Amino acid sequence: MIASVNPATGEMVAEFGEHSPEEVERRLELARAASAGWRATPVEQRAAIVAAAGELLEAEQERFGRLMTLEMGKTLTSAIAESQKCASGCRYYAEHGPSFIAPEVIAQSGERGEARFEPLGAVLAVMPWNFPFWQVVRFAAPALVGGNVGLLKHASNVPQCALALEDLFRRAGAPEGVFQTLLIGSGRVDAVIADPRVHAVTLTGSEAAGRSVAACAGRHLKKTVLELGGSDPFVVCATADVARAAEVAVTARTINNGQSCIAAKRFIVVDDVYDDFAARFVERMRALRVGDPMEKSTDVGPLATRAIRDELHEQVRASVAAGARVLVGGDVVAGAGNYYAPTVLGDIPRDAPAWSQELFGPVASLFRVPDVASAVAQANDTSFGLGASVWTGDAAEGERLAQEIDAGSVFINGMVASDPRFPFGGVKASGYGRELGPWGLREFVNIKTVRRFPGGARQAPVE
Ligand code: NAP
Repeated sequence: MIASVNPATGEMVAEFGEHSPEEVERRLELARAASAGWRATPVEQRAAIVAAAGELLEAEQERFGRLMTLEMGKTLTSAIAESQKCASGCRYYAEHGPSFIAPEVIAQSGERGEARFEPLGAVLAVMPWNFPFWQVVRFAAPALVGGNVGLLKHASNVPQCALALEDLFRRAGAPEGVFQTLLIGSGRVDAVIADPRVHAVTLTGSEAAGRSVAACAGRHLKKTVLELGGSDPFVVCATADVARAAEVAVTARTINNGQSCIAAKRFIVVDDVYDDFAARFVERMRALRVGDPMEKSTDVGPLATRAIRDELHEQVRASVAAGARVLVGGDVVAGAGNYYAPTVLGDIPRDAPAWSQELFGPVASLFRVPDVASAVAQANDTSFGLGASVWTGDAAEGERLAQEIDAGSVFINGMVASDPRFPFGGVKASGYGRELGPWGLREFVNIKTVRRFPGGARQAPVE
């Protein structure tokens, strides 16, 4: 079902029919036709269109914010901030993108050679609902500046956001076919990947979806970037500013109603400061205001769908059944809407889901460890490797932890967050490839060697 269901009330807001096979065919053909003209368009012109998209995101932040809140329940304040972040992402790629794909001259005596960065063609983006604008824009802005055309298969619960994004790039001046939405369910993704008019795939979503998309893309030899789940550690060392760490920990766990891949999920605290941290953290989690995401005073809104809330509660129940202790929360909030009480679990045994699984909601797993070496071992004791946050008053210790923790990013005395200037992505089951910065733009290009041998210069006979 492709539908907007308000997570705060459970009410159906709008339903959409999937695009028919003929409509998908028409859109693939439009993408193919647009690709040649778009790649021939000067990069400055492509960048100007992405900049114009950024201006619209800035100007219409309130409207876009309301749409996000209505469809997936994030607080309006954070939804408006998301639109602003998208605007800055567009500005970043409009300004710097052209230089990221400027040819690199490789000097050799007697010849002139270079590496060029040319578009691949059409890139399919399979995207999740949790940051329904930012996930798409952080793919689309670099892809479009790079000369690729985009096909968006958005999550089935955010169709209005998907259509608004198509409309956004059209209004920004992108020619027909350069950025299109495909309203299709996940069962039809493989057929699109297999289509010869599609050249690469980027997926942000769950591990299961990543495996499926990568397997299909592998069969068809198409490049993939995968941004998958995480169970990020938040390590608190004995020298940390515990009060500050506990304050940030609450935001790091409950941002986006707890539904962020890079939300801190496992709080690993050394024995010396465990009791102090736990008391502060639990009190702050208890004080959070859960309610209507449209209200400014709300800290935590509903989860995006009823199924997501039920799955989260099942993980909590299974963890408690295995021996975990509920320090606060631990249950659904009765009534309409998909609300879940901010929760902290302690004394978690190794076989409980809360030990290593991703809990996609406002539920924190708290662990006591004897020392920093054990904290690192526990931080790495997961199949995921997306982000990590470490808290210490000792700079050398921070550097050591940054090196020893197996993750795509480590933040020292700060909360993990994406930033257009820095690479973003994971290792292990959190995926591969990078978004953002020059790295993100260069994922979907043909890095082409061009060498010239003027005046019949002789070429050494090596491969
Ligand atoms: P999801 O179920 O994997 O859905 C993500 C997208 O993949 C949706 O468009 C979905 O379509 C599609 N999809 C699902 N199964 C598929 C399949 N077998 N083949 C092709 N497409 C498929 O994930 P979610 O529940 O929406 O999002 C939460 C997950 O995303 C969490 O694990 C979170 O950590 C991860 N995430 C990662 C990042 C990152 O940057 N690393 C960022 C945000 C979220 P339908 O909606 O039609 O099913």
